[in-house]
Amino acid sequence: MNRRAMLKMAAGSAAAGTVGALGDKCAASAEAAKSAAVAQTYSRATRGMPALKITNVRTIMTCPEGGNYVCVKVETSEPGLYGVGSATLTTRGAAVATAIKEFLAPFAIGKDPTLIEDIWQTAYVSSYWRNGPVLNGALCGLDEALWDIKAKRANMPLYDLLGGKSRFALTTYCHADGKTMEEVSDNVARFVAAGWKHCRIQLGGYGSPILAKTADFKAAGFGEQNDGIQDNWQYIKGTYKLFEFIRKVHGEDLELIHDMHERLEPIEAVNMVRELQKYRLFYAEDALAPEQEHYFRMIREQCTTPLSMGELFSNPLEWTSLISNRLIDFIRIGFNHVGGITPGLKIARLSEAFGVRTAWHGPGNIDPINHVAQGHVDLTIPNFGIQEDVDLGWGEKVQEVFPGCPQMKAGYMYLNDKPGLGIDIDETQAAKYPFPPFPNGTGFRFPIRKPDGTQIRP
Ligand code: MG
Repeated sequence: MNRRAMLKMAAGSAAAGTVGALGDKCAASAEAAKSAAVAQTYSRATRGMPALKITNVRTIMTCPEGGNYVCVKVETSEPGLYGVGSATLTTRGAAVATAIKEFLAPFAIGKDPTLIEDIWQTAYVSSYWRNGPVLNGALCGLDEALWDIKAKRANMPLYDLLGGKSRFALTTYCHADGKTMEEVSDNVARFVAAGWKHCRIQLGGYGSPILAKTADFKAAGFGEQNDGIQDNWQYIKGTYKLFEFIRKVHGEDLELIHDMHERLEPIEAVNMVRELQKYRLFYAEDALAPEQEHYFRMIREQCTTPLSMGELFSNPLEWTSLISNRLIDFIRIGFNHVGGITPGLKIARLSEAFGVRTAWHGPGNIDPINHVAQGHVDLTIPNFGIQEDVDLGWGEKVQEVFPGCPQMKAGYMYLNDKPGLGIDIDETQAAKYPFPPFPNGTGFRFPIRKPDGTQIRP
């Protein structure tokens, strides 16, 4: 190799070395920038978020389509960050609103909303006398709003925060009623055609008052003309016939539910549930009044008809032993009557341990915020059973007041995937629908009586 060629080669390799060194330097700095960005993201995600305080707890009462809804809005020190919760108690909404305004709001304002468990526990015992649907309703409003805030802060739908989905949507049951067996059957057919696989069937409403032959008490001038009538045996006999008819028309695959609504004498309920076994119920609902729940053991000794219970419960003593003794198959409490998502999750986990599934209370006279809150838990837990729904969907006015209502489709309930609960309250819309005055609104229940005038529970 001549000198010129050697110099050229040396220059070439020097240049190549420079380029190589520069390239390494660039790659290293890109890598460092990437690591710094990752570190920053990690730090942002894991460092303590700015301190947060509850600045206001407000009650919003609205009755858009006959449901006396009491809702709670919890505002925080972070601009625009708030949560909503349900405090609905259909029959005594004003009492819940008073409990929130006079006691719970002053208790909560100034506290850190991220400490949900501590706030729940301290609020729960702050009255010394605890439980009951009024105090639990108020507590539920606060609790659900705090979970809404926490999940919004985490920028994820609540079901994600609770462990993620265990199913794509929630199986629901519809409500088929009618004045005749044919009318009930037609309504069942309508729901089946729309995709439902589970139907609750009733003949002429709870306790089938249309089957009662006489209201002797009215003729005798006892009670009030508006008082309801129920003849227990006519109701029981009519329900057997209804099941026979519906099974004959709709076959053996349809899942059937019947709500006894805690109205019979305990021994009548034992007999009725046993007789219904041949119609293969998905479950018999609320067979006994809460005061008579010890009769569940007798029902279990007589038959294996699945049982659901709990919509009137508001005290842990009412559900703990029924679940842990495996005396029911479905727990049916409503979050708004037990204090919110925090106790609802615990009831779900307790039930899971004993093979009991959930069937949270969910009629249309409970506001959609509570339906959504229960739905988030339903989506995640392994022992979800079924969800009561608002059949063909929430009415237009309710959807205007509550943007983000769950959607019903072909026997399933769907929640959206927005951060938090995914539901809000439009306060301008809500103000259009004030509560009707008591007792003419839905807040009053007329007594239901036996033909001789004896009051029937509930
Ligand atoms: Mg019921």
